[in-house]
Amino acid sequence: MRLVFIGPPGIGKGTYASMLSKKYGIPHISTGDIFREEIAKGTELGKKVKEYVEKGLLVPDDIVIEVVRRRLSQPDCRRGFILDGFPRTLRQAEELEKITTIDAAILFEAPLEVIIERVSGRLVCPKCGAVYHIKWRPPKTPGICDVCGSQLVRRKDDEPEVVRRRYELYLQTFTPIIEFYRRKGLLIEIDASREAEEVVADLEHILKQRGILK
Ligand code: AMP
Repeated sequence: MRLVFIGPPGIGKGTYASMLSKKYGIPHISTGDIFREEIAKGTELGKKVKEYVEKGLLVPDDIVIEVVRRRLSQPDCRRGFILDGFPRTLRQAEELEKITTIDAAILFEAPLEVIIERVSGRLVCPKCGAVYHIKWRPPKTPGICDVCGSQLVRRKDDEPEVVRRRYELYLQTFTPIIEFYRRKGLLIEIDASREAEEVVADLEHILKQRGILK
């Protein structure tokens, strides 16, 4: 099961990916997470990409492609993987084809207003990274992390205006990639305006129909 996940920020891609990743034992590979980790560790790669990531600019293709090539050659990718945040340019999509075969590109969609409602209720723990939602996954004590007791905060990225701006940027960036996979007959469109369990069940059903998931 070699999948590419595509969808706007806040659509829940990370949640769906981690559900599938746990259930089928395949890694969830987010290039954004890899870069953030490398920056936090202060590695050579981290130093190279720091400025781009902090400014929200695309990291140059050659660097990203090499990172993905190396990651996909790890033994845990043999049974499949979920790529999240890659490819982001046509060149990355073309290079990915040289590295491996993709079974499907999953496009998660929901109206912008639904996304705004979702992320505006999101609270995160600045200390341990746990994620909550005021409506769907509230902490036991309002505003306090269940895991470590820290004060929860709302991410700057989750403010409605920022979400709108990131959505526009997403459309500009990903439209050519979406068309790339659509032309190849690899695109699967999923309605992500439902509960996460339903979204994932729908995706599993389609993957089974297509013989990608046994
Ligand atoms: P994300 O968490 O996917 O939003 O990624 C965070 C940041 O990492 C982006 O704003 C880019 O600076 C960088 N990044 C992640 N994936 C890619 C990619 N495929 N191509 C170029 N830059 C990327």
